[in-house]
Amino acid sequence: MRLTRYFLPVMKETPADAQIASHRYMLRAGMIRQQAAGIYSWLPLGLKVLRRIEQIVHEEQQRAGHLPVLMPTIQPADLWQESGRYNAYGPEMLRVRDRHDRDMLYGPTNEEMITDMFRGYISSYKSLPLTLYHIQWKFRDEIRPRFGVMRGREFLMKDGYNFDLTKEDALHAYNRHLVSYLRTYERMGLKAIPMRADGGPIGGDYTHEFLILAETGESDVFYDSAVLDLHLGDRQVDYDDHVACKAVMDEFTGPYARTDETHDDDLFLEIPEERRSRGRGIEVGQIFYFGTKYSEPMGAVVVNDAGERVPVHMGSHGIGVSRLLGAIIEASHDEKGIIWPEGVTPFHCGIVNLKQGDAAADKACEDLYAALLVKGLEPLYDDREERAGGKFATMDLIGLPWRITVGPRGLKNGVVELTSRRTGESEELTPDVAVARLEQIYAPH
Ligand code: ATP
Ligand code: MG
Repeated sequence: MRLTRYFLPVMKETPADAQIASHRYMLRAGMIRQQAAGIYSWLPLGLKVLRRIEQIVHEEQQRAGHLPVLMPTIQPADLWQESGRYNAYGPEMLRVRDRHDRDMLYGPTNEEMITDMFRGYISSYKSLPLTLYHIQWKFRDEIRPRFGVMRGREFLMKDGYNFDLTKEDALHAYNRHLVSYLRTYERMGLKAIPMRADGGPIGGDYTHEFLILAETGESDVFYDSAVLDLHLGDRQVDYDDHVACKAVMDEFTGPYARTDETHDDDLFLEIPEERRSRGRGIEVGQIFYFGTKYSEPMGAVVVNDAGERVPVHMGSHGIGVSRLLGAIIEASHDEKGIIWPEGVTPFHCGIVNLKQGDAAADKACEDLYAALLVKGLEPLYDDREERAGGKFATMDLIGLPWRITVGPRGLKNGVVELTSRRTGESEELTPDVAVARLEQIYAPH
């Protein structure tokens, strides 16, 4: 993309009402525009990152064997009356009425609708196990929308639902989700810690929240710093293997890690003092096993191999897709702007032409641009007639992990400069070597 053809409405001033870095930078970098409290338009740069995050979520869901569907945002109220949640949900639910006076709602989540879908088609244990998911906009009329996309009213969520014959199978689905979530967040350059969460009225140990450590997080967290050393890395886990998924689950949920809702001071004090840590965290996902809570009242039953009709065991699993943009920025920025992890960056690198209009500099930039495209990389070429300082400031603000700087002086020696946004370190390289270096950095592992 050439910057002169792009729509990147960057702002120099710090927006007055944005209290935290991610909100400020998303507004200043021209990623989002507020339309009402907690409701945003996504501008080209923001949408690009949102799509990259969605793409990673899709790939990792499907790697785990989960099937994508797409349910509507608007739901009929009667499904929620059946489950008993229509009245229980309270003022967070946006209720609307259609022209025929039918009660409808903008979905805050989809347990009822998916259970209805299931019972409409499935009646035998032979169709199980089954996990369906979608990535769809949700609406929750949050009492205090704030921090930009972090606590919106309209927000994008991946929500998935597993259907299993037995509790044991459903717990495998739970473990499998935990593993796939770990991989999902790692691909986004995030360290998300699974923390035991509050099971609410259902009780039990079968819910974990995934939290990113950040000072601006809304949750108080208590953890053994040993969790920070746990990484899936390149490890291959067979998602059908119950034992392998359980082993990863046990490893990653072994060290103490809880939010204030489930915190236990006595257990916390058993952690060696040098590893005993507390801080703040951002919830970027949650997994849940809830058994037959919806299948029983809604009649999602299958016939088992003994010919008996039994309600299916279910769980639900959410990832805050739009919140993740904010969380990633909170975890990765400096005083100049965003620093995108390579896995989610909107463009793979920036090209800064120090002397637009100089024949040699223009040609070198065009050649680099074309060479990167051939390698399947997407550069953002700043081809504006603008001072170098302004170009650098824009690149630093929007946070592309790599920048190639091209100027007449370097070109006399046959070199351009490759700079890391994260470390600020630069290297002089020939254009060919710079392209090869980027190709290697972004090679899929
Ligand atoms: P919170 O406790 O932050 O209100 P929640 O526990 O009610 O979230 P879930 O129902 O678990 O949310 O939804 C799954 C994920 O969706 C959450 O982990 C979070 O990342 C994201 N999410 C929830 N509410 C919002 C919101 N208002 N704005 C943006 N993302 C949200
Ligand atoms: Mg939650």
